[in-house]
Amino acid sequence: MTRRVSIFGATGSIGCNTVSLIAEAPDDFEVVALTGGRNVAKLAGQARALKAGLAVTAHEDCLPDLREALAGTGIETAAGAGAICEAAERPADWVMSAIVGAAGLPPGLKALEQGRTLALANKESLVTAGPLLMATAAAHGATVLPVDSEHSAVFQALIGEDMAAVERVIITASGGAFRDWPLEKLRRATLAEASSHPNWDMGQRITIDSATMFNKALELIETKEYFGVRPDQIETVIHPESIIHALVGFRDGALMAHLGPPDMRHAIGFALNWPDRRDLPVERLDLAQLGQLNFRAADPERSPALRLAREVMETGGLAGAVFNGAKEAVLDAFIAERIGFLDMAHIVERVLAKMSAGRHISAEITLDNVVAADAEARRLAMEDVAKGQA
Ligand code: NAD
Ligand code: MG
Repeated sequence: MTRRVSIFGATGSIGCNTVSLIAEAPDDFEVVALTGGRNVAKLAGQARALKAGLAVTAHEDCLPDLREALAGTGIETAAGAGAICEAAERPADWVMSAIVGAAGLPPGLKALEQGRTLALANKESLVTAGPLLMATAAAHGATVLPVDSEHSAVFQALIGEDMAAVERVIITASGGAFRDWPLEKLRRATLAEASSHPNWDMGQRITIDSATMFNKALELIETKEYFGVRPDQIETVIHPESIIHALVGFRDGALMAHLGPPDMRHAIGFALNWPDRRDLPVERLDLAQLGQLNFRAADPERSPALRLAREVMETGGLAGAVFNGAKEAVLDAFIAERIGFLDMAHIVERVLAKMSAGRHISAEITLDNVVAADAEARRLAMEDVAKGQA
C-alpha cells in the first residue's frame, strides 16, 4: 500500500535526505506536499522528481519563480506561512517536520490536529511548546516520532521497555567544531570556523548550535518533553566520535546504547518505516576498525548553554520559547557577524533572566503565548545586540 507523505523543509539538510530515501522507493509513496524557502529551483526539482501534488515556498516574492519552474507539470504552487499551514492540513499518512527554527511549530501542530504521524526533526517544536505538542497529538490520536539522532536512539532503546524502569537517559554530544579549543581562542571563533562540523553534515544553523552546545541544550529539553523524564534523569557526555547516539539506563543498572554511523538517513529512515524496520542505505559499522570510543565530561565553563537548559527545564512554562527565541536571534546576529561567538550565550542568559523575572513566563503554553514569548525574547536579544555594537 502506498503511503501519502508530506515534507516540510524539503530543501534543507534533513529534507533532502528524506527526499532521497523516498526517491529510492517511488512505488511505496505518494508525495502530497513539499515546502521550502528561497531555493525555488531545488524545491521545483524535488516536486518534479517525486511527482508531488503541491509545492509551497515560505516567501511570497518567490512564488512567480516557483510557478514558472513548475509550469505545465500540473503541480500546484503556493507561498507564505499560511500556505505552509494549509499544506499541513492536506490528507497525508506521514509528515516530516524539517523546517529549522520556531517556524516549524505551527505546521507541525496542524498536522497533529489531523491525526497524522509526525516525524519530528524540528526540535524547536518540543523546546518551545512540548506540552502543547504532545497534548495535541494525544487529543487527536496522532503519533510523534523523534528524528533527532539522539532521540531516535532513545526511542529505539525503549522499544518493549517500561518507562517506570528507566533510571536515566544519556544524550551524547560530539562537542562540535570547537570541542578542543581553549576558552580564550573561542572568543575569537569566526563564522566560517563555527559553520563546519567534525562529524555531521547538517544545515548551517544547527552546525553553529553544535559549536556553542546550544544544540545539545535544546536536545536536553527535547528529551524531557518527549520522554517525560525528570531533568535530573537526563545526562550528557562528550563523545567525540558520534557513534553512540544515546543510552538509556535502567533501574537494574543496565545501559542500552544505540550505535550507528553519523548519518541522519538512519533516524529519518527508521521514522519513515516505523513500526517496521527495512533496509537502509547507511554504512555498516566495523567495530574492529573503529578500535575505540571515547567519552569525557562536558566542561560547564565552556558550555553555559547546558546550564541554561537546566534552568529552562526547572522553570518550565514559556521558558523554552524564550530560550529558543533568544537563541535564534543571537544566531542571526552571529551569522550577520554583528556579535562574537561567546556573546551568544551571554545575551541568551540575560534575556532569560529578564523574562523569568516577569510573570508572563508562567502563562499557559498556547500557540499565541508561545509566539508572543518568542517575539519578545527576540526583541530583547536584538536590543542587547544593538547595545553591544553602540
Ligand atoms: P536547513 O537549514 O538545512 O533546512 C531548513 C529548511 O527549512 C529549508 O527547507 C528551509 O527552506 C526551510 N525554512 C527555513 N526557515 C523557514 C521558515 N521561516 N519558514 C518555512 N520554512 C523555512 O536545516 P536542517 O539542518 O535540515 O534542520 C532542520 C531541522 O532539523 C532543525 O530543527 C534541526 O535542528 C533539526 N535537525 C537537523 C539535523 C541535521 O542533520 N541537519 C539533525 C537533527 C535535527
Ligand atoms: Mg541531534
